[in-house]
Amino acid sequence: MNKHATDLRIDAGRFRATFEELAAIGATPKGGVDRPAFSKAHLEARRWLLETAKQAGLETSVDGAGNHSVLLRCGPPGAPILLLGSHLDSVPNAGRYDGALGVIAALEVLQTVRQHGLSLASHLEAIDFTDEEGHYTNFVGSLGLTGQLKAEHIQSPRGGRRRFHQALNRARLSEESLFVAGRSPASIAGYLELHIEQGRRLVEQKVPIGIVTSIVGIRSFMVHFLGRADHAGTTPLNLRRDAAQGASAFILAVRETVLREFPDCVGTVGNVTFEPGVFNVVAETASVSLEFRADGVSKLDAMETRLGQAAADAARRFELDLEIEDLDSSPPARMDENAQASIAQACERLDLEFMLMPSGAGHDAQCLATVCPTGMIFVPSVGGHSHSPREHTEWPDCVNGANVLLQAALSLARL
Ligand SMILES: [Zn+2]
Repeated sequence: MNKHATDLRIDAGRFRATFEELAAIGATPKGGVDRPAFSKAHLEARRWLLETAKQAGLETSVDGAGNHSVLLRCGPPGAPILLLGSHLDSVPNAGRYDGALGVIAALEVLQTVRQHGLSLASHLEAIDFTDEEGHYTNFVGSLGLTGQLKAEHIQSPRGGRRRFHQALNRARLSEESLFVAGRSPASIAGYLELHIEQGRRLVEQKVPIGIVTSIVGIRSFMVHFLGRADHAGTTPLNLRRDAAQGASAFILAVRETVLREFPDCVGTVGNVTFEPGVFNVVAETASVSLEFRADGVSKLDAMETRLGQAAADAARRFELDLEIEDLDSSPPARMDENAQASIAQACERLDLEFMLMPSGAGHDAQCLATVCPTGMIFVPSVGGHSHSPREHTEWPDCVNGANVLLQAALSLARL
């Protein structure tokens, strides 16, 4: 890279003003935002993005999956596109940084490159992916763009198909259009995403930048303990086959097993349903939702085996039958080595300390990683809070993250 490019920085004042404008759309009294996918505020934020980009002299487009794009043609004709982005949708009652920071930083990078009239080997595109948070169905935008969207992804959207269709209508999309957003991998030079960490490792270590090495894989199961319904007054405790007891023993064993044997992983029971579920009847069945995450397939396999044994032990102890229903899984996604190196070099140029870390949360980057070189940059989340109005990142950290995104993009776009 030439000297001029390595010295280039984003316009911190403009970046902040743009970020604040966006944060006002769907703003909540507690200082967060409420912009679930296809809500009024979300659609307004997307219109605002296109309008802001046009005013900055940039091209805009929307694809069949509703992904909103801002394009800067700074490469030769026919050059591939380096994508930079994240998402403008939020969970209900969210913070203002998750997703929004990455989109606004991407827009700021394009404005900076345009302003300095740089010619690169790739074009640059700032992209806002559709429904990252899965208000209807997770990653529908990035799955659509990468050609990985399958009919089963949209078979049972959260809240039902009717609600999903109404939402698509509001955005002038349809189930059919979602499938025409696919791009050829050859047209994509790579993907970079700036995001808040949503955990507390960077803050605790006092390190301003995290370079994501991989996004964890997730497996989910429904674990059913099957016992016998009995009278709660007349059946002695030692003669019961009480599904609630087996489920409870298992839930505690999940925590113990993961802490002891997989200390860098997590396992969660988020829901239990008892049947018949009344005060005066011994629980006949207990259905326990189990989800666990790890950054490697062999670790996921080992966790599946060990937690399966823990469920069998709990069932045996309380004389229950056991059924384990395999629900959903997503494999771990490795971030590209070269993208990681470009981010590390960017940190060195900017004199910023960094650490390598896996991401425990899912991101659009995991979909992109299957078709193009992909990298992710994390900035610290104060207190590790996210998906809450308490979510906060100190503004100098946001500026650092955007400058790292700029410098990493310039080196990946081979200036
Ligand atoms: Zn996010």
